[in-house]
Amino acid sequence: MLPLSMKRSAIDLEEMASGLNKRKMIQHAVFKELVKLVDPGVKAWTPTKGKQNVIMFVGLQGSGKTTTCSKLAYYYQRKGWKTCLICADTFRAGAFDQLKQNATKARIPFYGSYTEMDPVIIASEGVEKFKNENFEIIIVDTSGRHKQEDSLFEEMLQVANAIQPDNIVYVMDASIGQACEAQAKAFKDKVDVASVIVTKLDGHAKGGGALSAVAATKSPIIFIGTGEHIDDFEPFKTQPFISKLLGMGDIEGLIDKVNELKLDDNEALIEKLKHGQFTLRDMYEQFQNIMKMGPFSQILGMIPGFGTDFMSKGNEQESMARLKKLMTIMDSMNDQELDSTDGAKVFSKQPGRIQRVARGSGVSTRDVQELLTQYTKFAQMVKKMGGIKGLFKGGDMSKNVSQSQMAKLNQQMAKMMDPRVLHHMGGMAGLQSMMRQFQQGAAGNMKGMMGFNNM
Ligand code: GDP
Ligand code: MG
Repeated sequence: MLPLSMKRSAIDLEEMASGLNKRKMIQHAVFKELVKLVDPGVKAWTPTKGKQNVIMFVGLQGSGKTTTCSKLAYYYQRKGWKTCLICADTFRAGAFDQLKQNATKARIPFYGSYTEMDPVIIASEGVEKFKNENFEIIIVDTSGRHKQEDSLFEEMLQVANAIQPDNIVYVMDASIGQACEAQAKAFKDKVDVASVIVTKLDGHAKGGGALSAVAATKSPIIFIGTGEHIDDFEPFKTQPFISKLLGMGDIEGLIDKVNELKLDDNEALIEKLKHGQFTLRDMYEQFQNIMKMGPFSQILGMIPGFGTDFMSKGNEQESMARLKKLMTIMDSMNDQELDSTDGAKVFSKQPGRIQRVARGSGVSTRDVQELLTQYTKFAQMVKKMGGIKGLFKGGDMSKNVSQSQMAKLNQQMAKMMDPRVLHHMGGMAGLQSMMRQFQQGAAGNMKGMMGFNNM
């Protein structure tokens, strides 16, 4: 059970009366309470530069300890810390090989043994060696447990006593759910867990169990694992995590991704948008950007109300293929068609063009028609946005648009969104501008998020 005790007082009735609907207010209150739950009230441990920081990993077998050890080592190494790994797991066959492989790939010095069977000896030797060599981040991986097995717990305690870690990290799999509280507590009772890392948040699990782990260990979540690769790893951020938990999408993450793309450099597009113009080529370029953004599901998962349900249907590949198909169709268009500010009209005036493009790209004329319909809808929205006076002035949308204008825009977008992927993707340029609005002020502000959630 989640240690969730929602007080009525958390719901501000006056604010409610001011016009926001009940559902939103309750969501807001739940959100605030959940944020409190992942805050154990103690500051997260951080390593000290120039010192030998020893970090020990504990957790159930398969929770992702070995993977996460490597990720953390890699994280600090990239930040310029002198980092190393020690494998003190003699329980699981192949444990040392696994760590060795990860470490070698990332060029991280490591220590372990194929012959020594006592994890306490390996851990002590490794820590001593690396301390002498002035390593700053010394990470010790230990063996996992399927459940609370006394002998293994004892072993964990002995390792901890021998190496006296500065930080003990409890690694938990996001999907473990209900069982989490008891498990986390069992670990905490034995050794002094001070941090939590939640893994496998790239999957369907939202990580609700993490709340229990925080409560049980009184330790903050410091990082999250979002994939099997060494850089699928992020410092923990409360608001996006809770948003995901509530199925509201990760606005901040989306902003980061979009910013990474440096779409801002795309002056020409912004200039056109200002005038409400949007060509087929612009759409093509937006698709290219989306492809560049990498794992599709990651992006989709960040869009409010669009995350987990969609992904659980497992049609990421389908969406990607769809996008590619649309781009193939546009590849068969000529410059005149691509660059017209009313691309659809060029085609409707001379329907022969549709046949030509269909033939050229190996699709049906209906497919081409559909693409043009999507394009038209999007171009219409751009036109509306361009029509809002001064919307893009000074590059900061939030200062230039009133609440009611924003609401209208939202409505407009909402109308356009259908469950089909293209709409969402096509809406990306608009979304980007809206993101900026969130970034300025409203990021982390629930009212903003909720409004957005209505899309
Ligand atoms: P350990 O037994 O605790 O050391 O767990 P491992 O590090 O061996 O991980 C168990 C499995 O989970 C491996 O297949 C990892 O690739 C996988 N894994 C670990 N972290 C993540 C993650 O954040 N996302 C995903 N998708 N898989 C992960
Ligand atoms: Mg392991």
